[in-house]
Parts: sequence; C-alpha cells; structure tokens
Amino acid sequence: MESTVCSIPTVWDQAIQSLATKMSPGLFSAWIQPLSFVELVGDELIVSAPNRYTQEWFTDNYLQTVQQEIERLVGRPLRIRIQVVDSPLPAPDPGPKEALTVAPARSSEASLVPPVAPSRESLNDRYRFGNFVVGPSNQFAQAAAKLVSEEPGRKYNPLFIYGGTGLGKTHLLQAVGHAILDQHPTWKVQFITSERFVNEFISSIRLKRMDEYRARFRDHCDVLLVDDIQFFQGKDLSQEEFFHTFNTLHELHKQIVITSDKVPNQLPDLEERLKSRFHWGLIADILVPEFETRVAILQRKAELDGIDLSDDVAYYLAQNIQSNVRELEGALIRLAAFSNLRSCPITVEFARDILTHLLTRNRGQITIDRIQREVATFFNVTQKDLKSQRRPRAISYPRQVAMYLSRKLTSASLSEIGQQFGGKDHTTVLSADRKVRQTLEHDDEVRQTLETLEKILGR
Ligand code: ADP
Ligand code: MG
Repeated sequence: MESTVCSIPTVWDQAIQSLATKMSPGLFSAWIQPLSFVELVGDELIVSAPNRYTQEWFTDNYLQTVQQEIERLVGRPLRIRIQVVDSPLPAPDPGPKEALTVAPARSSEASLVPPVAPSRESLNDRYRFGNFVVGPSNQFAQAAAKLVSEEPGRKYNPLFIYGGTGLGKTHLLQAVGHAILDQHPTWKVQFITSERFVNEFISSIRLKRMDEYRARFRDHCDVLLVDDIQFFQGKDLSQEEFFHTFNTLHELHKQIVITSDKVPNQLPDLEERLKSRFHWGLIADILVPEFETRVAILQRKAELDGIDLSDDVAYYLAQNIQSNVRELEGALIRLAAFSNLRSCPITVEFARDILTHLLTRNRGQITIDRIQREVATFFNVTQKDLKSQRRPRAISYPRQVAMYLSRKLTSASLSEIGQQFGGKDHTTVLSADRKVRQTLEHDDEVRQTLETLEKILGR
C-alpha cells in the first residue's frame, strides 16, 4: 500500500492527549511525552521511543487505548510500531582529535565550531527565568543571576548562590544557562554538578583521558555552571583540577556560576584558595519563601502542568508546607495524580486526605515502605510485585528503581533493604543500585523519572 500523507502527526498528538486526561501528569510525562511520531508507512504508524523501558511500558499499558483512539479519529485501524532510538549522552566527551586540534579555542570565533555538547541538553527546559517566581526571599539571587546572564563574564564573576535544599538554586543556575543560550545560541554552556565533575574526573584519570577532560571545561566552555559545590569537600584532587579550570576561565572572562548549600566560609573541607576565589564575585543567598511566594509558586506550577488549583487549596498547601519548594511541588503533583486516578476535583478535604502522611510525617523521614508504595503507584504495579521474584521488566525495572531510591534516601544497609524486598540478597540490591546509577548517567528519561519520584517523596 502507498504511504499516506495526511495530518497524522496531529492525529497522534490528539490520541495521546486523550490519555493525558486519564493519567496523572507524572505518569504522562514519564511514559507518553517522550514518544514522538516519526512517519506513517502504509497502515503502520511509526513512533520513536527514547529507550526500551518506555517502549515496553507503553506497549504493555497504553498501546491498545491509543490504537483505539486513532481508529476513532481516522476511521480505520492503524498499527503502531515503536522504534527505540538511542538518546544521545547528555554531555558527551569532546572527540579526542577535536579536543586536541582545536587550538586555544576560546575567542568568540571558537563558537563557530559546532558545540561539542549541545548545551541545552543538559538543562531542564522548565528551569527558566520565566518560570521562576520572584519574592523577597529570592529576589537578590534572581536579580544577580539575571544580570550575569545579560552580561556574562563582565559583572559578577563568579556568582555564588547558596541556600537550603529545594529552594530553587538549581533552577536559577540553569536559568542563567538558558538565558545566555537565548542570546548566544552557539556558546558552549557547561552545566555540571560537582559530584559528576568528581566522577568524570576519576574516570578520565582511569581512562587516561585527562586532556579531553580539561579541554571540555577549559577550551570548550564559554559558561561554566557548577551545581552543589559542597560535594567537592574532601575531594582534594578534584578541587585542584577545578581550581585550575576556574582560573583559566576567569582569566578569559568566561562566566562562572556556582551553587552551594552553605556560604563558602561554612564549607570546612574546601581549600582556602578556592574559597577565596568565590569571594571575587558576588555571593547571593536564597531564603525560605514567604507564604505569598509559596502560593504564587504553586499557582505557576499548576498553570504549567494544567492542574486545576483553587486558591483555598493553594493556601492550604502553602500553610502546611513551608520550608521546601520541592516538597510543595511534590504535594501538588501527588494531588494531581490522585485526582486523576480517582476522577475527583482537588478540594481542601481531598488534599487533607491525600496528604495526611506527608503533612504529619517526620520531616526528612523516608522509609523503604513509603518508597515502595510511591514507586508502585507511579509505575502502576503493586507493592507485592516489588517484593516478589518476578522478572518481567515491567516489574524488575520499578523494583530496581525502588531499591536505588531506598539506598539513596534512607540510611538502611544493603541487607536491610534486601530484607524488605522479600528477603533478597544484598548483592541484588547493590547491582540494582549500580544499574540504575549507570543508566542515569546517559538516559535523560530515567533521570526525569527519578526526579519526579524524588519530588513525590518530598526530596
Ligand atoms: P535546590 O537546587 O535549591 O535544591 P531546585 O532548584 O531543584 O532547588 O528547586 C526545587 C524545585 O522547586 C524545582 O522544581 C524548582 O523549579 C522549584 N522552585 C524553587 N524555587 C522556585 C521559584 N521561586 N519559582 C518557581 N519554582 C521554584
Ligand atoms: Mg539543586
């Protein structure tokens, strides 16, 4: 049969939109949004998925519904074939030759060379200034970040932003990246957490690829954004490496922005000379947002996610969750998910009912049991499945994720975790943890899924 050219992409979009109304936004963005229409060949609609998990998950859970919806829309059945396309690494190493032959590539001409790592890819699309709600608590940091992104390298260098967990540091840091890329699309913006800086530093030593590593941060970099510098503490060699990178970039007037959970002086295991560098520029703090700012953040988030949020529910949440914006967002995502599942509107009573354990639980206390329950709900499996020996990927993947989160978010030992997953061996937990971490490194989808889950868990 001949291939048909009609507005099939729109049909695809419409068909998946019909799912959007039936699923929680979290599930939708984890499993459906990553799929995209490729082409229609005969009666076969080809769709791409970023990885095998998404492909299998979609096929097992939603394929039939979408197929029916498409049939309804076009008036005839179409088969859906899902291809897995390997997603690119978030921040690939510069190719060795290029790294070595692109001579001191730092003038603006260097930008004519295609960027080594597509800079936007390592940035969360939502973390832009436009989505950042400004209030007295964060006004200073926001204004400084904005200034720096308007005149990179010229005003405050480095800009050092510090504040407690979940208050918007990473959001602001990446907003700087987006804004600079909007102005200078060819610039190379390197966003990296200091944890990753350390890990990649170690592997570059192991693989004897130090030159490439250096080139990536010193030559192939117009703007350096380093998140959570506190992880550098006690990692002397990495600090040393970072110190030189810092100096090189600073001399070239390349903008550097750093975030931390504390002011430089309160980071005891950070080298003095590095700390003194941080004082060269501007140090800005982010504080816990006031009630009004919390309400405004919730409303903005609801607007972005298309969640119907009344003022009284926003006030209720803002009154009850005070010290962490991430928790605030997590509560909203959770409400939206449950309101979807149960098809009922989000009222204050509903919020009170759904969030009881979140509001009354010991803050910071995340138990393995809670992780299992949230992960099970998220992936649409049962807690029993997670504890079972069952091997299908639709179960083993959520199980690995739950083990990884238990390792990350609780202080339980490997064998304790194994015990709570139906008496599994500690090596099983270890290998699940390792597997998820490895996937995280290069799979943006999985990373997003985990970010959503951590938000739901209030991290
Ligand atoms: P941190 O890095 O300080 O731990 P994040 O930047 O990850 O915090 O912020 C946690 C969540 O809260 C993110 O989803 C972020 O978008 C959101 N957030 C924090 N502050 C604001 C704000 N002022 N306006 C909108 N969203 C915010
Ligand atoms: Mg952060």
